[in-house]
Amino acid sequence: MSNVDVIVADYGGLQADQEAFYKDLHQHPELSHQERRTAGQVAERLQEYGFAVQSGVGGTGVVGVLSNGSGPTVLLRADMDALPVREDTGAEYASTVTARDAGGQEVPVAHACGHDVHVSCLLGAGKLLADHRGQWNGTLITLFQPAEETGDGARGMVDDGLLGRIPAPDVALAQHVLPGVAGTVGTRPGPFLTEADSMKITVYGRGGHGSMPQNTVDPVVLAALIIVRLQTVVSREVAPGETAVLTVGSCQAGTKSNIIPDRAVLQLNLRSYSGQTRQRMMDAIQRMVRAECQASGSPQEPDCETFDSFPLTDNDQDTTSKVAAAFRAHFGDRAVEAGQQTASEDFSDVPRAAGIPYTYWAIGGTDPQAYRAAEKAGRIQDDIPANHSPKFLPVLQPTLRTGTEALVTAALAWLAPQSGS
Ligand code: ZN
Ligand code: ZN
Repeated sequence: MSNVDVIVADYGGLQADQEAFYKDLHQHPELSHQERRTAGQVAERLQEYGFAVQSGVGGTGVVGVLSNGSGPTVLLRADMDALPVREDTGAEYASTVTARDAGGQEVPVAHACGHDVHVSCLLGAGKLLADHRGQWNGTLITLFQPAEETGDGARGMVDDGLLGRIPAPDVALAQHVLPGVAGTVGTRPGPFLTEADSMKITVYGRGGHGSMPQNTVDPVVLAALIIVRLQTVVSREVAPGETAVLTVGSCQAGTKSNIIPDRAVLQLNLRSYSGQTRQRMMDAIQRMVRAECQASGSPQEPDCETFDSFPLTDNDQDTTSKVAAAFRAHFGDRAVEAGQQTASEDFSDVPRAAGIPYTYWAIGGTDPQAYRAAEKAGRIQDDIPANHSPKFLPVLQPTLRTGTEALVTAALAWLAPQSGS
């Protein structure tokens, strides 16, 4: 029996508790930077398992360190925040929570990105590794970060001195639950998740009466023209082989049908796999917005503000090969190659700051039968709710078990004695 087999053989002992913890967390989601209840529970459990715990790192971040003799230091990471989404999954443990967002607005909150799975799996892996210290040597760091969804949680922990407060890690590992057959784990070397930016663009008009457009500069029409024009950024200015996404996710102007407002506000989201493509899109957006404002006779230059920037997730080749080999040995044909994802993550901010390699893998969260049926019918995009959808809900098992085993398996690729046992 390998060290992995010995340790995960104990999963049955923690399953009921982990499932109860997960359901409770799912019913108590917290927005980015507000993960106080979650962080409290995480810290309490880590302490119970024997970790040295630091709370309040970068706001609500929690780190646990388990020193177990000389050997490599492995950092495992989970994100804790939920989203302003009204859950519509029909689950008996669905969230009905509301909270005030950063802008003071009351919003529904749900774990629509599955970070509750990540927290539950990392706690489970921490417990299994703590209970079986005889099977490995080295140091295990479990990092629970806040505010992944706003892209600043990992950086916040680094800025708060994270790296001076923990032993220097040799490698950083993390995972995300995504649509895919539950029970599978997907690795991919190289660029895996896109870099991303959001932009807020305010364009100005001249307000007036809806019956007298000749006296105004109408920012609603201006915004509409910009939105249509922006559709040519990816289709006409980015090379067909390059991956790029530009979405106008919000457009706000006006209060009443017969008033022409004096401004319109657009919110854009951009994704790409290269800094060059990113710059090309940014430049094209600025150029088009300025030109459309000029064409409309806008009385004031537009304002452009960039926010929620995420780095590229670029998996280290050697680290990914090592994890993929460990997954193949443990999961057999449930270890697959993952496709590139146009989602984004701030996980890599920690290993980048520490100057260490990292890899980030996907675990499937969809009922296997439903996924295979949708795949066969060519209807995955229509029938399988993706992350951030009000209907996104990973199946409990084998998702939790697989995510827990994946973390243990990957960590042991560094921590288990090479001679075997
Ligand atoms: Zn998300
Ligand atoms: Zn997420």
